[in-house]
Amino acid sequence: MKSNMNECECEIREEGKSFKGWSDYYDFQEKITKNSVFQEIPVDKPLYNIGLEEKWYKCMLCEKIWRLVTPDPPFAGQWRKINEKEDAAHRND
Ligand SMILES: [Zn+2]
Repeated sequence: MKSNMNECECEIREEGKSFKGWSDYYDFQEKITKNSVFQEIPVDKPLYNIGLEEKWYKCMLCEKIWRLVTPDPPFAGQWRKINEKEDAAHRND
């Protein structure tokens, strides 16, 4: 969806984008850790139930939850918001 009214401070990377490699992933993870709008919270339901490592970060401003899926080559990892509908669709795949 490209209909965001206002971009929140948590919009620091294009949603759904994968990582170009480990350095890209680690650099990004460091950026999140240093950014005070993000608070790490426990993972409720992983996006892909195939044993990929995943971290959840809640935005303290808009309260959206972002998931950071660790790359597991050839899977390049992912950064995306929790979206109930989309996530349900994934589970039906
Ligand atoms: Zn936000």
